[in-house]
Amino acid sequence: MPKTRSTVLLYAIIIALLPCLLPAQELNAEPYVVVLLYHKFDEKDSPSTSIPSSLFAKQMAYLKANDYKVISTSELAMCIKGKKTFPEKAVVITIDDGYKSAYTKAIPILNEYGFPYTIFISTCAVGSRKCMSWDQLRYIRAHGGDVGCHSFTHPHMVDVSREEVVKELVHSKMVMEKKLGSSVRWFAYPFGEYDNYIRKVGLRAGYELMFTSDPGSIDRSSPPDALPRQAIVGSNVDMIMFEEKLERPPLHINACSPGPGRINGNSIDSIRIVLDKPRLFFPGQVQMFLSEKGRLNTLFNPKTGLLMCKGPIILHRKVNRIIVTARRKRDNKYAMHSYMIVLKQGKVLNRKGKAGKPRLIQVQGQEAKNRP
Ligand SMILES: [Zn+2]
Repeated sequence: MPKTRSTVLLYAIIIALLPCLLPAQELNAEPYVVVLLYHKFDEKDSPSTSIPSSLFAKQMAYLKANDYKVISTSELAMCIKGKKTFPEKAVVITIDDGYKSAYTKAIPILNEYGFPYTIFISTCAVGSRKCMSWDQLRYIRAHGGDVGCHSFTHPHMVDVSREEVVKELVHSKMVMEKKLGSSVRWFAYPFGEYDNYIRKVGLRAGYELMFTSDPGSIDRSSPPDALPRQAIVGSNVDMIMFEEKLERPPLHINACSPGPGRINGNSIDSIRIVLDKPRLFFPGQVQMFLSEKGRLNTLFNPKTGLLMCKGPIILHRKVNRIIVTARRKRDNKYAMHSYMIVLKQGKVLNRKGKAGKPRLIQVQGQEAKNRP
């Protein structure tokens, strides 16, 4: 073989083997699933939870045109259980509360594309003036859709007694299964609120997957009882935001303090999150957010992966999300991880409170108005 030809061949082999020669952590290109969360359509009196059906149609067209694979919740469950590999560019469509506008406006569009979807509904609401009927839910199940449980009465789960938590998770499941004639395998937390006890009861009740409203994406490391979803709601949603939400891979963390769930008192000394494989990210573009305070001032150690916000941080809201984003060097994507912390004391007072609105809560006997 001539020398130049063998040299070219050698280079070709090296280039072909390059991905194998690089450390595995530098690749970090694991496929992930984005679960989209919708509520209402064309309901102008609910600007924070509704979107125009014309925009929804555009989003579905975008998924189709850009080769996203819309998978069912059942397929997602197989991936999480390791019975199936995570597909590339996969999306799950979920719609909470079972409003009639979802049935009349969104489902015809989903059927047009042949996209699977899951409706989450509270059993008490079925058949009410604004919500779907049992007949409609049975029709959905028979025609490409699925139905999951969204509790019995749609309470703020972090406020109700332990006995009521059981009722909200177990009783509702039994009622739904009787009415629908088959098993109900998924649950979505009302208002996206949960703690460790609620998660445990849900798993014991037999739910295979439980969805939060924490922003983020899912891969094989995601816990089946606290799966994040990307909310596509509100008057500020546009196509740019929609496309961005599809491009946020999961951020893996090794440790966090405080952990998810209940915390004592209403202040925390510091928030510490340890990122897995910190060298994958631009050190200057690792950020931490807290719902009631916005972006926090943090210190980041790119060698150890420790991201820290020094406190004390006084909390006014009963529920808060801690959100961490980090920009990946390999593709400039913002990886994201988020979880919920809940004060032990205090009560969410505005039971009709909606995402994004300020909440009036009681903390240790005092009323405090939160920041928006
Ligand atoms: Zn809801």
